Amino acid sequence: MEIIDSHTHWGPSVTMGTEVTTQEILRQAEQSGVSRIVVFPFPSTALADEGINQNLLNEATKIKEFIPYYYVPETMKPIPAAKGFYGGKWHWMRGIQDSSSNYRALEDPKLGEFIEASEEIDLPIVFEEELAFTEAFIKKTRRLKIIIPHLGMLGGNPNDFLAAFKARENVYFDTALAGSNMVMDFVKSIGHERILFGSDIPFGTMKSELENVLSLPIGDDKKEWILSKNLLRLTGLKLRKA
Ligand SMILES: [Zn+2]
Repeated sequence: MEIIDSHTHWGPSVTMGTEVTTQEILRQAEQSGVSRIVVFPFPSTALADEGINQNLLNEATKIKEFIPYYYVPETMKPIPAAKGFYGGKWHWMRGIQDSSSNYRALEDPKLGEFIEASEEIDLPIVFEEELAFTEAFIKKTRRLKIIIPHLGMLGGNPNDFLAAFKARENVYFDTALAGSNMVMDFVKSIGHERILFGSDIPFGTMKSELENVLSLPIGDDKKEWILSKNLLRLTGLKLRKA
């Protein structure tokens, strides 16, 4: 079966002073048997210079394994899908990175336009905020496909995220950095069709994050949805024959 990593960070990180190179991602992919990789820029780098989105796109035209996602800037510009992006990354909009949401962003009149345009574009958005922010955002859209990373771990308690969005068919979750027991709780509750495998390189390694999913006590047919089919369905990409 084809395996696609739905969550990695590519390029330089301004805050960490390091860089995740194409070679490093491809090395981990080869080691893990992963054939394609979703890549997005680091938040700090994208905030310092939006041009990183274009650099990423340029790289993805050379590297056939890459599936580039657009970092949604603080101006709330929707994904320029025609350029070749397959999804977006929304990260603590105008908030404090990885620690607190800025609720004033929800009152920005641009938000309505962003959601409307994004519904039309119909590509998935990896969406990371606190639970209350995420709830307020998702109340505004029934159609937009939202992927909550880490089963919601960085925005609150995964169980609370699960309870809040269980009935929302447009809300998905990725497995990055989550334990296999927690992933299994999600599979039992919402099924395998709303869960995506992700490694979160460089914060996780592809091999161990993949082993986590492979170890789940479910059939290979169900694992295949988590490992590639859900991502393909969301992005409109086609399965690649091994
Ligand atoms: Zn990440």
